Amino acid sequence: MEEPRFIVDSMLGNVARWLRMLGYDTLYNRAYKDWKILYLAEKESRIIITRDRGLHHRAINRGLRSLYLYMDDMAERLAFIAYRTGIRLHIDLDRSRCPVCNGELRKVSRAEVKGRVPKKVYELHYDFWECTKCGKIYWVGGHWKGIEETLRRAREILEKMKEGNIYSITEGGI
Ligand SMILES: [Zn+2]
Repeated sequence: MEEPRFIVDSMLGNVARWLRMLGYDTLYNRAYKDWKILYLAEKESRIIITRDRGLHHRAINRGLRSLYLYMDDMAERLAFIAYRTGIRLHIDLDRSRCPVCNGELRKVSRAEVKGRVPKKVYELHYDFWECTKCGKIYWVGGHWKGIEETLRRAREILEKMKEGNIYSITEGGI
């Protein structure tokens, strides 16, 4: 099955960063107007993710796939997106995209990042990835625990959604 691709409205930059980390091709630009989001969604077969009910309805009326993200909690948001589109709720940096620019990451050797990351980071870490588009370097840093915790909660919520305990299926139609 082909991986879903997304376009995220200007209010949901953090959702875009999560989807990219999870490995999904996700467009996000604060300057995108509604018409541009609808245009790109149609042209590139992308699922729209929005907090704007008006935009959501316009998308649905045009026959586009759209998710109305009405909740605030990130774990709930990710669970809901997974419930409706089947995205993975695990991060594998070999598949991740750059949260900043959506470029693909590639694993690089430790030698390649010497002098390009802080000395302490270089000394403490062995696995590094580089964005093939903007050149930013990534490693599994101190914030990783928080990321894993959010994903663990998201997977828990997803299970409840699948059991039908929360959220009606008609909400945020796709
Ligand atoms: Zn990048």
